[in-house]
Amino acid sequence: MARPQLTVLQGGRRLTPTAPVGVVKGVGPEYEKRLGRLGIATVRDLLLNLPWRWEPYVRIELLSQLQPGEQATFVGTVKSIRAENSRYKRLKMAKAEIKDAAGATLNVVWFNQSKLAYRYKPGMRIALAGKVVRGYGGSFEMRNPHHDLVSGAPSKVGELMPKYHETAGVASSRIADWVQAALPAADELEDTLPEDVRHRHRLLPIAEAVRQGHQPDSEAGWKEAKRRLAFAELFEFQAAFVLLRRGLEQETATPIPYRQEVIDAFKAGLPFELTNAQRKATWDVFKDLERELPMNRLLNGDVGSGKTAVAAAAAAMAHAAGFQTVVMAPTEILARQHLHKFRDYLEGSFPGLTVELLVSGLPAAERRRVRTAAASGHCALLVGTHALIEEDVELANLGLAVVDEQHRFGVRQRELLRAKGQGRPHFLAMTATPIPRTLALALYGEMAVSVLNELPPGRTPVATQVVEPEGRELAYELVRREVAGGRQAFVICPLVEESEKLQSKAATVEFERLRTEVFPDLSLALVHGKLREKDTVMAGFAAGETQVLVATAVVEVGVDVPNATVMLIEGANRFGLAQLHQFRGRVGRSAHQSYCLLLADEPTEEAMTRLRLVEKEHDGFRLAEADMRMRGVGELMGARQHGLTDRGMEALAHPELLSEAREEAESVLAADPDLEEHPALREAVSRRLELAAIS
Ligand code: ADP
Ligand code: MG
Repeated sequence: MARPQLTVLQGGRRLTPTAPVGVVKGVGPEYEKRLGRLGIATVRDLLLNLPWRWEPYVRIELLSQLQPGEQATFVGTVKSIRAENSRYKRLKMAKAEIKDAAGATLNVVWFNQSKLAYRYKPGMRIALAGKVVRGYGGSFEMRNPHHDLVSGAPSKVGELMPKYHETAGVASSRIADWVQAALPAADELEDTLPEDVRHRHRLLPIAEAVRQGHQPDSEAGWKEAKRRLAFAELFEFQAAFVLLRRGLEQETATPIPYRQEVIDAFKAGLPFELTNAQRKATWDVFKDLERELPMNRLLNGDVGSGKTAVAAAAAAMAHAAGFQTVVMAPTEILARQHLHKFRDYLEGSFPGLTVELLVSGLPAAERRRVRTAAASGHCALLVGTHALIEEDVELANLGLAVVDEQHRFGVRQRELLRAKGQGRPHFLAMTATPIPRTLALALYGEMAVSVLNELPPGRTPVATQVVEPEGRELAYELVRREVAGGRQAFVICPLVEESEKLQSKAATVEFERLRTEVFPDLSLALVHGKLREKDTVMAGFAAGETQVLVATAVVEVGVDVPNATVMLIEGANRFGLAQLHQFRGRVGRSAHQSYCLLLADEPTEEAMTRLRLVEKEHDGFRLAEADMRMRGVGELMGARQHGLTDRGMEALAHPELLSEAREEAESVLAADPDLEEHPALREAVSRRLELAAIS
């Protein structure tokens, strides 16, 4: 009988790709949990999680040789080290002073790693690798550097060091150690890429790619490893889409015939003319609705491009054919806003088209009334939140299901919504922010896409300006001036990633400061994720009762408040470009000139370059693309929930890789529809589909 090799036995449990990551030496239950937050559950996940970059180091022993902004390895002696809590963000950290031979000191801080204060002691020689920055008062500083004790033996530091993505409490250097321990299992990884595909595209075998990915022999080896793993990832996604599409093609929907008089009435009832992009998207939708296949379309649009009107046109057509429409939005505020917009767009021209709202905040009697109206077919358009799928809402004759800001819902929630009727309704999803074309193809490859890349005419671009910390007073001046002119302002608090609770706390502190010290003469309101009366506060702001709304980033500020003309974003450097663009889209919704002020609390060169892009660029699609290139991280539009890694994201910069992966996936599935000959691929695809279903 074959026995497992000794090298792959760890703590009595076998180190195999499918084993939970906890079998890796050094990963205890706590770390297992934290790794889970990075999407690493199994040994395979750990192995496939390549460093996102490498830091080249120059070893330096005298601080006078260091240049701010440079990557360096510095070897010195610990002078002092201690654990500390930061007041501002309530972070635990370790702070150290490291001396060089000439007596100069380097200040080091490790966020979220206060334990290091007990690992290193004064007098120890340590090597630190990372970026040197100029701290307050001109001193040299390193933040979160790699670190290692310098003993007699040659140190790893000084070579190329892998940098893995970190999460609260898991430093990159630890992940590097675990990867080393897990590498023997690489030989047992099953390849999801068929051999002929691999050969055709000159891709490394999986085990080799994993080894080169973590311990490359050369830069070329590293690049090949990345390309190969990215290809496999995109290939698996595309194979999953083929299966999803095939499933949809086996379903039937009731066709909703196109009627010219409906669209004429719809246009006549609108307070504006449709833009060309809206017209084109509406046309795409009408063509889909006429088919017996259920529509499965994504409206991919810039912020403020008018996606709601397109959905309303579809609802009108469905209504004319005797079908109901249901629209699900991620928050109550958005659902209410939709209610008003749909009524505004539709009720004038279509007297029988009743629009109703269902959210959990309604009184019981009202909920009952709405449910009855839906079940009897009297309500033609039902707008709501999760309540739509959580409560036992039934629709007499559902023809069209619409989901707004679709990335905030999982596949399962979308499925539950679709299941509200008897048959299979047509389905329309809308994005919150524009998604670059390649990303849309990589994430939503099973859907047809309409792009809304045009803003309604007459909007003046929001004047956007990056403000350095010294300029804060001027920013407040602008708020005062606009409020004095009868307008309103948003102030977005810096992002605190650790938790919503901390974020809400920090926002409360900032709110108090603004209320008492900065704008004592204005009326301010605060809204954050932990606040129960969110909707009341938002409604008060929308009604003009408060002048300045202080909000956290986690809170949905997606309300339409045309009278707001200032968007002031604190800690703008911590947000992604797409998110900044989304915030900016909250103002500039009227004829008044609007302003967006980006305050950087850490004005590094890199941050400023990114922010200046928002200053110049007003096209959301282009900003999203730049964000994808610059951050390379799956922060965009739920890419992470989908399981798209940085590697996959990075690969999207080479669209030909995506189309090749797509073609190969299609031809593999054409030849082997149930993937009987490709068990590893079959498994990978079902993992991806499951992941999508629970996200
Ligand atoms: P989003 O695509 O961000 O969801 P909305 O549908 O909320 O955008 O529309 C943004 C604003 O633009 C709304 O106030 C809407 O009434 C208005 N709007 C939509 N289409 C047009 C248009 N063609 N002309 C003028 N205003 C429009
Ligand atoms: Mg919208």
